[in-house]
Amino acid sequence: MSYDPLTAKAVSSEIPHPPTYWRSTHRVVARDSLKQDTHCEWLIIGAGYTGLATACELKQQSPNADVVVVDSHDIGFGCAGRNGGFVLSGTGRYSLSAIAKRWGAGVADKMHHEFRSAVDEVGRRVQQGQIQCDLNNGPYLKIAHNAKQASLLRNAVETNKRQFGLDATFLSADELQAHLSIQHAFGASSQPGQALNPLKYVDGLASLAVSEGAKVFTRTPAESIERNDKGWTVTTPDATIKADNILLASNAYSPKKFHPMIDQRQFPVQSSIIVTAPLPDALRNATGLNQAMTMMDTRMMKYYYRTLPDGRLLFGGRGAVTGKNADSPLSKQRLVNAMTASFPALNGISVDYFWSGWVSVALDSMPRVVFDENQRIGYSMGYCGSGVSFATLAGARLAQKALGQHIDITLPLYKDALPKYPLPAMRRLGLRALYTWAHWFE
Ligand SMILES: Cc1cc2nc3c(=O)[nH]c(=O)nc-3n(C[C@H](O)[C@H](O)[C@H](O)COP(=O)(O)OP(=O)(O)OC[C@H]3O[C@@H](n4cnc5c(N)ncnc54)[C@H](O)[C@@H]3O)c2cc1C
Repeated sequence: MSYDPLTAKAVSSEIPHPPTYWRSTHRVVARDSLKQDTHCEWLIIGAGYTGLATACELKQQSPNADVVVVDSHDIGFGCAGRNGGFVLSGTGRYSLSAIAKRWGAGVADKMHHEFRSAVDEVGRRVQQGQIQCDLNNGPYLKIAHNAKQASLLRNAVETNKRQFGLDATFLSADELQAHLSIQHAFGASSQPGQALNPLKYVDGLASLAVSEGAKVFTRTPAESIERNDKGWTVTTPDATIKADNILLASNAYSPKKFHPMIDQRQFPVQSSIIVTAPLPDALRNATGLNQAMTMMDTRMMKYYYRTLPDGRLLFGGRGAVTGKNADSPLSKQRLVNAMTASFPALNGISVDYFWSGWVSVALDSMPRVVFDENQRIGYSMGYCGSGVSFATLAGARLAQKALGQHIDITLPLYKDALPKYPLPAMRRLGLRALYTWAHWFE
């Protein structure tokens, strides 16, 4: 049984945990479900990075605030417990030069700083919570999958260095080969990167939120959200919650028709991951996959991969279109084929783990942090597959917005609402067409 946000009315806590590599490295702290009716000032729905970072910020900015977080399942059931663990300096799908082109150089410069702050925010939370999440440094390589992309990357490295002071270098195909034995690569940009164990990180954030005084309940799905004269009434299976404010942090896992403020404003799309057996030292040395490093290619349907602390390779890419096919052997084989096409030396290596998860794609590829001061409800979502760092910062920004603090609304992230998909019922048809195009032409 797997979850499909476009058809399901709720994330059932009966759905088994995804068989991720991360769950083999960490046992999540067990937390109670809500059994008694309650009232709170702030109710946060969803206990991933967004929801838990919002809770931490609310409690730190306003220590007397009464903050409750509920999640349908256990901590880390959503994307936060099943992603690749790349700590990226960016979110959505816009490059800095694309932002400059659309919103101007000044906005691009501010966005660059905001993205850098998001990476710093992860370090700050890790420090505050003393979270042991295997946060490591290593190069982040963006790998060109054709000659045109190599030339674009080379230009981007120069522009980003000049305009934004970005610390990156361009490696030609030969220079790249000197570091990494990879096929079908036409060059790469290399910049400092970071990675972590996402499940340990989200569990640590939950403990931090609780230590700050927030109440976190798991296996407590918000089944309905209704407005009344005094605020909000949220029903869960065993209890009703009256809340003055509601913050929706359910992201791509938000069920069908959850709340009009977010319905049809994001498109949940699956991404899948395989993890190999630990690579023998000789193979790691021969391929160059012998240090902490993160990599992503330039395809529209990107492949992303990283080394893991115990010598395995994690390799991810697009998943199946529907939840029903999430675990399909075809999706797994597609990733194995892509991995061995890039690293032929890995042919025959056993694959120990395979799983999928839903990422939230905004129509215009720009996430949004929104709070309606009159209705006292807000959300943050639409990170398009890069949310480890930005969701951590977005949670803080959501709390700050909700508390009425100053947020720079010249940044498109904070300015307006997620746009509605014009033909929501056609989203999956469009996605299938895109995958077919990518199969033949990328
Ligand atoms: C396979 C994969 C790989 C990825 N790799 C990376 C990566 O390497 N780097 C990166 O930056 N990003 C990556 N991402 C994206 C990243 O994981 C997400 O952007 C991020 O985790 C979003 O965090 P969140 O807290 O907003 O949402 P989530 O972590 O998805 O949390 C939402 C929570 O809401 C809960 N929920 C939903 N409905 C309800 C309800 N009605 N009541 C109560 N609770 C509810 C869910 O159970 C869930 O726990 C990846 C995503 C996937 C799927």
